Amino acid sequence: MPQRGRFTLLTIRGIPVGVDWSWFLVLFLIIWLMSGFYRDVLGVSQDSVEPYALAVASAFGFFASILLHELGHAFVAMRNRITTSSITLWMFGGVASLDREPDSAGAEFRIAVAGPVVTLLITAACLAGGVAIDGSTFWEGARFDDTASISTGVAVLAWLANINALILVFNLLPAFPLDGGRIVRAIAWRLTSNREKATIFAARLGQGFAYVFIAIGIVAALTGALFFGVWLALIGWMLGGSARETATRSKLNTKIEGLRVADVMDAEPVAIPAAATVDEALDEYFLRYRWPWFPVVDAAGRFVGLLNRGTADSVPETTRASRSVSEILDGSGGADQTVKSDEPLESLLANIELRRLGGLAAVDADGRLAGVITLEQVGRALRDATA
Ligand SMILES: [Zn+2]
Repeated sequence: MPQRGRFTLLTIRGIPVGVDWSWFLVLFLIIWLMSGFYRDVLGVSQDSVEPYALAVASAFGFFASILLHELGHAFVAMRNRITTSSITLWMFGGVASLDREPDSAGAEFRIAVAGPVVTLLITAACLAGGVAIDGSTFWEGARFDDTASISTGVAVLAWLANINALILVFNLLPAFPLDGGRIVRAIAWRLTSNREKATIFAARLGQGFAYVFIAIGIVAALTGALFFGVWLALIGWMLGGSARETATRSKLNTKIEGLRVADVMDAEPVAIPAAATVDEALDEYFLRYRWPWFPVVDAAGRFVGLLNRGTADSVPETTRASRSVSEILDGSGGADQTVKSDEPLESLLANIELRRLGGLAAVDADGRLAGVITLEQVGRALRDATA
């Protein structure tokens, strides 16, 4: 998904909403294509500005439609205690990036279905608005088959209703990672009570659809619909890649199922006592082991925080003998530096802190330091599991 060339437009309920540069290509295309379309529909002269105004309104309506769809996913995710780190609009639509996967089939289903429900409501609202303004003649206009009957503003509502209906149908195709594919995964998950099996099934189905999209896209491109064809083939290629990646990750998860942090960690870690002086920490730990950081434990063996080499070094030499390690800890030993030793190893795969620090303190239920687990150890366990 796009990362570079992305910039934030606004923030809604703490969620940064950004656009990728390719989104402007979409807006430009919509305005360009739609102004020609409205000129034909309304039968106005070449120099009339009205078609342009309608095309710009359509582009904004389209933007709002996609954004509301993604906000639908994000708000339901929030209700299921999953934060959305960002919403990005780009040439293939919108992406709501959730911080983690839902932990139940029900949550997965509700989050997946929320976007299409919003799109359905937008479609219904556009149709209702059109009928309210134009009465029953709106229906002929909405199909754009009797263009004489349609009035100016209503043409935009009719187009938005059509495009949202299209978005709805496309998103509900059972082609993981599209919404429909996620719904399939949620149902398979509920039926089998096995998240990984359900994911592999949905991802395989998604890969199948991806090939179909690519095939249709190529045929369309070769038979005249060049733009649509290329666009569909690219979507297929992207969905296929994403589905394959998901399937691979799920297979890996199946292989490391049953492995816990305690099975992989160093169960006899070297830890600095919180009462030690900075001098002692430097001489007996940092200079001896040459590690970038150490876990620090209190008298009862409870983990209280980390000490980085740089932090210890920055204490003026004259005070190193009198200051204790507990005064200069890095962090407070909270959840960002620790992992429970009985947690499944899988929970560490997406752990950002593990990547940043290179390791985490593994603690037992009482907060006592049980071990240290490093990125290297996790990597080795994964290699062993897949070998
Ligand atoms: Zn969606």
